[in-house]
Amino acid sequence: MTSSFEYAPAPESRSIVDIAPSYGLFIDGESTDGTGPALKTVNPATEEVLSEVATASDADVDRAVRAARRAFTRVWGPMRPADRGKYLFRIARLLQERAREFAVLETLDNGKPIRESRDVDVPLAAAHFFYHAGWADKLEHAGLGPAPRPLGVAGQVIPWNFPLLMLAWKVAPALAAGNTVVLKPAETTPLTALLFAEVCRQADLPPGVVNIVTGAGETGRAVISHPDVDKVAFTGSTEVGRSIARAVAGTSKRLTLELGGKAANIVFDDAPIDQAVEGIVRGIFFNQGHVCCAGSRLLVQENVHDEVVAALQRRIGTLRVGDPMDKNTDLGAINSHPQLDRIRELVAFGVDEGATCWQPEGELPGRGYWFKPTVFTDVSPAHRIARDEVFGPVLSVMTFRTPDEAVAKANNTTYGLSAGIWSEKGSRILQIADQLRAGVVWANTFNEFDPTSPFGGYKQSGYGREGGRQGLAAYLKGDN
Ligand code: NDP
Repeated sequence: MTSSFEYAPAPESRSIVDIAPSYGLFIDGESTDGTGPALKTVNPATEEVLSEVATASDADVDRAVRAARRAFTRVWGPMRPADRGKYLFRIARLLQERAREFAVLETLDNGKPIRESRDVDVPLAAAHFFYHAGWADKLEHAGLGPAPRPLGVAGQVIPWNFPLLMLAWKVAPALAAGNTVVLKPAETTPLTALLFAEVCRQADLPPGVVNIVTGAGETGRAVISHPDVDKVAFTGSTEVGRSIARAVAGTSKRLTLELGGKAANIVFDDAPIDQAVEGIVRGIFFNQGHVCCAGSRLLVQENVHDEVVAALQRRIGTLRVGDPMDKNTDLGAINSHPQLDRIRELVAFGVDEGATCWQPEGELPGRGYWFKPTVFTDVSPAHRIARDEVFGPVLSVMTFRTPDEAVAKANNTTYGLSAGIWSEKGSRILQIADQLRAGVVWANTFNEFDPTSPFGGYKQSGYGREGGRQGLAAYLKGDN
């Protein structure tokens, strides 16, 4: 993209990572063949095939669940909690030791900038294991009675936007609470989960405690509907979340769903505008907007609308879109061709419905899947770009006059995952936050994550919490 001066390229080397030409499933501590047809995983920035990955059939998923059950009954369930904690600490340390390898692999498989995988995804994944390692022998203080017990085997299905981090959000609390796991990574981003399998072996984790079954949606369906799975945890689209809720209804399985969002980022006229602009950029362009809690609806107080939009456009003009392996890159590649098609379709709806579309000047790379940072103004709450989750670098700007109108517009969505408030008045922030129907509300910041802080939604954003003491409840049976 154009900017006032050019940076010299600063590419991260990929030589630290050995990508095998093919990968099997990770079941009972071993790499094994899958019986389904192998899938190719592609670098979305170059369309280069990175590797072939096995697909788990129903029979393979059954083997994985049996292995997880055996490990739960014989080893992991009966183990002293402090010893379980030691394994989690070991995994956390190994993630830190191999951080650069994980960051490079994540960027190659997912398309996100190396700066983000290196500074956000991998450190946070390690932090989740450290945090939950500390809980393993203190579960009686989780607020679930004096002797909470694990549920058994957890079936976990995760999406492609934060492949390693979502794995950590799922696996760390499950293991800390004494459960064993069968995890299915997303079809387009399986590689860091398979490297994590290697970390499990390196940590001497007993076989069967963590099993990783790769494949497409059918493999996910087999995991969540397996009769010997006690707990289902899913992160992904609202549509698939609904079908999982139907499949699990009427069984004794426990379910947590972390689904889509359409967060409002509310900017009052007393907000520090430059700081707010940084927060708006971080809210919607972090990870190419492939973020369930992205601040995709900007609500600006009417009297500062023009000033905010002008400052935002100036700032977006300086963002660097391109090679995700370059340490100067701000926006990387869109994760897959179908996701690019979906973004294009929703943007075309925005234009057809009469909103004004703005994009910065500049060329995108010729190969790979790319989309420019995009801002829509003149958006009405009825437009699809104001209602549907785009899951891409597309911001819809609307205005409000009074705090009540801001709250009404922010809550005018079928989702309720997150929100942001920008104001210099603490009392106003508290008053507005109290009225927002969103699981997470950020004040004068956006997209901050911490393993101690519970994360989850209202309404069609799903139910249950991940992280913090509340997140442990999803993996434990209490006495009360
Ligand atoms: P999905 O919800 O389809 O994918 C999430 C995970 O579920 C993947 O591992 C997927 O496998 C798996 N899966 C798919 N179908 C089933 C099923 N019937 N039973 C069990 N598991 C299943 O999201 P998509 O990748 O298709 O993305 C579509 C849209 O969803 C995006 O455009 C975005 O709007 C939204 N999305 C939201 C996310 C969020 O965190 N809020 C995350 C991802 C997507 P596979 O990858 O192989 O299809």
